[in-house]
Amino acid sequence: MNRQPSLSRRQLLKRLALGTSIGTLGTMGLESALAAEAPLLAIDAPEAKAVHYVEDATKASAAKPGSSCATCGLYQGPTGSARGPCQLFPGKDVKASGWCDSWVPQM
Ligand code: SF4
Repeated sequence: MNRQPSLSRRQLLKRLALGTSIGTLGTMGLESALAAEAPLLAIDAPEAKAVHYVEDATKASAAKPGSSCATCGLYQGPTGSARGPCQLFPGKDVKASGWCDSWVPQM
């Protein structure tokens, strides 16, 4: 008869504790990765220049008063954030105070 060795209660508890610790660390790493900010879009990047992106909307002569990335329909940063993702520039953050030719009102 071939019997599988059974875990003692102590071994089982150790393994559960280790598994919980590793699981917690894994979750923390995932949360950190999700919370990490993308690099800021450089104003001299070709894609930024193509739409006349500026980091300060008040310096863009074509910007209507009150328009900025923070009030743009393509801005994905949380309300009140200083920076956040823009649908126009995947993988990059833009400044909430910024502006570009592609500004659209929020729906
Ligand atoms: Fe800012 Fe909108 Fe232009 Fe993106 S599309 S850079 S959020 S103004």
